[in-house]
Amino acid sequence: MSEPLVARMRNFGTTIFAEMSALATRTGAINLGQGFPDADGPPAMLEAAVESIRSGGNQYPPGPGLPELREAVAAERAERYGLAYDPATEVYVTVGATEAIATTILALAEAGDEVIVFEPFYDSYAATIALAGAVRRPVTLRPDGGRFTFDPDELRAAVGPRTRLILVNSPHNPAGTVFTREELETIAAVCREHDLVAVTDEVYEYLTFDATEHIPLASLEGMRERTVAISSAGKTFSVTGWKTGWVTAPAPYVRAVQTVKQFMTYTSSAPYQRAVAYALGNELPWVEELRKSLEAKRDRLISGLETAGFTTFRPQGTYFVQADIRPLGFTDGFELARALPEKAGVVAIPSQVFYDDAEAGRPFVRFAFCKREDVIDQAVERLARLR
Ligand SMILES: *Cc1c(COP(=O)(O)O)cnc(C)c1O
Repeated sequence: MSEPLVARMRNFGTTIFAEMSALATRTGAINLGQGFPDADGPPAMLEAAVESIRSGGNQYPPGPGLPELREAVAAERAERYGLAYDPATEVYVTVGATEAIATTILALAEAGDEVIVFEPFYDSYAATIALAGAVRRPVTLRPDGGRFTFDPDELRAAVGPRTRLILVNSPHNPAGTVFTREELETIAAVCREHDLVAVTDEVYEYLTFDATEHIPLASLEGMRERTVAISSAGKTFSVTGWKTGWVTAPAPYVRAVQTVKQFMTYTSSAPYQRAVAYALGNELPWVEELRKSLEAKRDRLISGLETAGFTTFRPQGTYFVQADIRPLGFTDGFELARALPEKAGVVAIPSQVFYDDAEAGRPFVRFAFCKREDVIDQAVERLARLR
């Protein structure tokens, strides 16, 4: 039988996460590959979802999302960042950030348009750009002074006549970079000069460390009017399975997203929306405790990885550490990641899968630290055997 899958999706077979998680299950290795927490979100938020189901909140909510969640998102953006969005026309609820990213790209990129992405990039970006028939233009984040950043000249050189969108993920998975104001100003200047639309993936906006500030690109001069900002409850409240996200943008962009989204899923799960609205209004102190505990876990994992012989890049945000494997005598992250469960009983992700430029990603593997402390301790004890 001929390959039934459309040609534009043929490079996107099974994801590395499925392969590595299967390897973890088969070998009994500790899974520091996939980034989901092993502890639940705030109890009162979980209760709010249950209560919503019990009290009849089980039918289709309005397409754009429950008004109470749209109002909670608008209030949170205003209070935290001084960004005003009209909950009726400028906030839209999606099935996680993943659907927000997909619908935004499908709604805004014509076939053949170019989309700039910073690599390493979150895996859904490449697939959705391909689905849209658009073309991705990677700009590589490279190690510089202990963190990953881009060369402004490479960014400027990536812009061409067909460039339409730039996807900006900060805090950045997997690099751990939180873009500074100066870096964001560089991006904003490129957007203004070339009339680009910025799509910002801010799902780790609350999870930054060492007093690093998350600055939304939309808060920079001239950017609110050309930015589609995306966030989600999954990472903020440790409920990655709830798949409740949102878009905030000027009304014409929200209408564009709506036009696509209404035929994908029409609307998003009602009981979770009610619970997330509650959490945005009441559980941010819980999130601050989560943030602090993640910072401690980051330090614990980094010190263990360094002891094991890796060179690490201290992330300013997210759940992830990038580790350079070369000091241990390895050169290929794929090879090491495939051997690591047998060698040391730990699963990591080869960062190469997040790059178009395989060479740039070859020496790195990604470890997740959103795990219980005893799990991290056990993993680093095992990794110490690599020496
Ligand atoms: C987890 C993640 C997402 C997906 O968020 P959902 O709300 O689960 O769809 C999007 N972008 C990045 C960078 C992520 O790490």
